[in-house]
Amino acid sequence: MSADRDFDVVVIGAGAAGLYALHRIRGLGLSVRVFEQGGGVGGTWYWNRYPGARCDVESWDYCYSFSEELEQEWDWSERYPTQAELERYFNHVADRFDLRRDIEFDTRVEQARFDESRNRWIVRTSTGATVSARYLVSAAGCLSEVHKPRITGADTFAGEQHHTARWPAAGVEVTNKRVGVIGTGSSGVQVIPQLAKRAEHVFVFQRTAQYAVPAHNRPLDDETRNELKRSFRQRQAFKRTTRMGMSNPPPAVSSALEVDEATRTDILEASWRRGGLAFPGTFDDISTNAESNRYVARFVRDKIRARIEAPEVADALLDIDHAFGARRPIVDIDYFEAYNRDHVTLVDVGAAPITEVTPRGLRTTEGRYDLDVLVYATGFDGMTGALLSMGIRGVGGLALRDKWADWPSTYMGLVASGFPNLFMITGPGSPAVFSNVMLSIEQHVEWIADCLAHMVKHGLNRIDANPEAEAQWTRRIHELAARSVVGKTNSWWTGANIEGKPRGVTMYLGGAHNYRAACDEIAADGYRGFVLSR
Ligand SMILES: Cc1cc2nc3c(=O)[nH]c(=O)nc-3n(C[C@H](O)[C@H](O)[C@H](O)COP(=O)(O)OP(=O)(O)OC[C@H]3O[C@@H](n4cnc5c(N)ncnc54)[C@H](O)[C@@H]3O)c2cc1C
Repeated sequence: MSADRDFDVVVIGAGAAGLYALHRIRGLGLSVRVFEQGGGVGGTWYWNRYPGARCDVESWDYCYSFSEELEQEWDWSERYPTQAELERYFNHVADRFDLRRDIEFDTRVEQARFDESRNRWIVRTSTGATVSARYLVSAAGCLSEVHKPRITGADTFAGEQHHTARWPAAGVEVTNKRVGVIGTGSSGVQVIPQLAKRAEHVFVFQRTAQYAVPAHNRPLDDETRNELKRSFRQRQAFKRTTRMGMSNPPPAVSSALEVDEATRTDILEASWRRGGLAFPGTFDDISTNAESNRYVARFVRDKIRARIEAPEVADALLDIDHAFGARRPIVDIDYFEAYNRDHVTLVDVGAAPITEVTPRGLRTTEGRYDLDVLVYATGFDGMTGALLSMGIRGVGGLALRDKWADWPSTYMGLVASGFPNLFMITGPGSPAVFSNVMLSIEQHVEWIADCLAHMVKHGLNRIDANPEAEAQWTRRIHELAARSVVGKTNSWWTGANIEGKPRGVTMYLGGAHNYRAACDEIAADGYRGFVLSR
């Protein structure tokens, strides 16, 4: 198939990863084209417009660090930025670095096929165009492929229904309406208290009870903002030395078992008062030591119970079947307090599952709920969903879907053997969502750009992963996961929310700092484990 246009690099997606990839790779003097299926930039922060949507990594950590001018000119208004503020930020970045001229919006990459004779990717888009590129960079996102469970009768519902990640830009009117929310993960926990402010009644359909840590959000004043700007570089350097890529202070003591009960409680209380994602890092061994985890889990349960007035509601919200941190930690604002309002009802669909959606609402094995609006806060086909939803074919026409049928093996989460010249940003096998994703994105983009510069400089046209290096890296991913509580329960972290998906933690759990060092070492060692050729 001949291509309409040829580029050095095609980037899929114009979220945080795609924007930076475009800026960085264009800076090498290469021609770049970005295809984005949405109508604007920002990815996650373009799509997730539901009330209450905000980042749960702090604004001063969840931002780019590649431009000193950008970091000094942008003012964050709150500790945790809202969707709207983040969308403004990414639009500002797109304008400031003149990125839009190389982005095609409302254009989905539908197929990509590697042409071995020319070492080029042939990319077909939803507009019917075919372009070719030496390199294909997926910035398609690890949480962008929407997951909506199949429920009998879903299409028959007579009211409005919306997925949180496809919330209409014009908003949804819930005033005086009966609203049902399916799902109590991060999105559900954010949207429920907001809907409860206006709806006549909110029914929350909870399948899995979850821990949550209070956000303690606050506005940032000028003094704080100036201080954050002054210390930006220093914090940035520190973040790179940490497991999660955030500038939270390191734990005072490494194990919860190292100190007596009173000291342990004091430490947990101080950490709880600070709130947010620093809390899971109160002790180093929460995710690897079952006893340490039990102390912390008990502390969190007690704190949550104290926020809920009705004991039977507290029992249902705290009927948690997993260790603290086994699922993605949730950071909440007024979530549990929402259940103290008469018009918010928790429906335990773990005990009495949903059987069908009807024109009037929803049925479970035990009841019927009449609804005007149905909200799916049911998350994503994480890590691999977006990549596999495109028809990507590598050497010999092998489909990525077939290569990954049993496990999404990659080398360093960057390249999958048999798919030369395809780079993945925050792909499976990298820390990805098990880190501050902004930092991981920057690290990947910079590594990929350096690699491309190396290829150009040495007249190389093809890079693939050595299958043995890939197998070794995959073993490492499994070993690290086996030692951790992370994923020791069903969740999107283990692919359990998607029927037929291989089960297990696909993220690298060894820490973003160690991962960065490993990537740098490999590059310094002549791209060890990769096969580079003309
Ligand atoms: C509600 C929510 C809250 C989050 N909060 C945090 C947080 O607090 N901290 C954190 O670190 N991370 C968080 N994340 C993870 C978040 O996804 C990342 O932080 C980051 O935004 C990912 O950026 P990205 O560019 O890699 O992917 P995305 O932002 O997902 O962008 C990918 C883009 O690719 C486009 N795309 C996908 N497939 C195609 C295709 N075939 N053709 C064309 N375009 C395509 C999509 O439309 C999308 O715009 C959150 C995610 C969600 C959903």
